[in-house]
Amino acid sequence: MKMGTALIYDEEMTKYKLLWVDPVCKIEVPERLIVSYEALVKSGLADRCVSIPVREATDAEILLAHSEEYLEAVKKTPFMHLEELMTFTQKYGDVYFHPNIYHCAKLAVGATLQLVDNVMTGKVRNGMALVRPPGHHSQSSAANGFCVFNNVAIAAQYAKKHHKAKRVLIVDWDVHHGQGVQYCFEDDPSVLYFSWHRYEHQSFWPNLKESDFDSVGSGKGAGFNVNVPWNKVGMGNSDYLAVFFHVLLPVAYEFSPDLVFICAGFDSAIGDPEGHMSATPDIFAHLTHLLMNLADGKVCAVLEVSARSSSLAHANVSSSSRTLLLFPALESIHSARSIHKKYWSCLQHAGMSSQHPLFHFTPTSFRDRLYMSI
Ligand SMILES: [Zn+2]
Repeated sequence: MKMGTALIYDEEMTKYKLLWVDPVCKIEVPERLIVSYEALVKSGLADRCVSIPVREATDAEILLAHSEEYLEAVKKTPFMHLEELMTFTQKYGDVYFHPNIYHCAKLAVGATLQLVDNVMTGKVRNGMALVRPPGHHSQSSAANGFCVFNNVAIAAQYAKKHHKAKRVLIVDWDVHHGQGVQYCFEDDPSVLYFSWHRYEHQSFWPNLKESDFDSVGSGKGAGFNVNVPWNKVGMGNSDYLAVFFHVLLPVAYEFSPDLVFICAGFDSAIGDPEGHMSATPDIFAHLTHLLMNLADGKVCAVLEVSARSSSLAHANVSSSSRTLLLFPALESIHSARSIHKKYWSCLQHAGMSSQHPLFHFTPTSFRDRLYMSI
């Protein structure tokens, strides 16, 4: 059984901030990353994880999801004066630049790739990258929504190129639609992108028609883009679980990914002033658990946006990490599975018993169970 959960974080990624007045961008502060990391330290979870250093992504890696023209433009930002940065920022939407953001953005991508390398080579079972700036709104030639480079989109391409991943699942549980990820893989059947998001009939940011349920991908990629737009706020734990059981998991099991990414945005939890959802922090533990039964447990959670208050960040991030670490249920699950193996064929399947202590259904038996519950 592959052991260990990676945690990738570097304080350097807190070292940029908004340098002028902008009511939209003022919420994107370094503290959002700091509180997430501190939550893991205080709960003792950070100590239980395998700490892996960050690195800067190379140009070639960034170009896996971005245009050369855009990369060259961002490269100039460390040398810009305040006025030039403001002008540059105005080309894009809901984002800001700072002389150190290019460096941080390269670290955010590099941290995500370090996570992929360690998970795909079996050095760790799974892991979480706490990164900033986030990535899921950024597009081939545009920064957007506080995102500079698309960390997860680059990492999915990287996993296909360098680790021969044939099918990659991206689960975006952030409250905003990660349109940048959708655009990147729209016609690509090897990457299944799933996103739920606050939508309210296009009145919620990013206000795009293509965030609606009928954007399913195009060409060969038709069916590999799954949007679940929320047209009401206040969605709770049972709504999140219902979407997982009735939409995402049946499709994900049929897709049978080699690797799973979570675009882990915690603005979809209760208490977030933008999300206005009602799901409690422990739901993220359940959702993480359900995803760990895919891809032989190879799950890479990459932070998009954390909660603003330290108490919520503590609850949300810790909830997911604790699940990735597979405690405290590990021993009990293993014991119950072992004793019942001779009575139930679903418990005899090799996958989980040899490599993973959690229950494992074959795609067929899992689907049967889902249909029985509908
Ligand atoms: Zn968000």
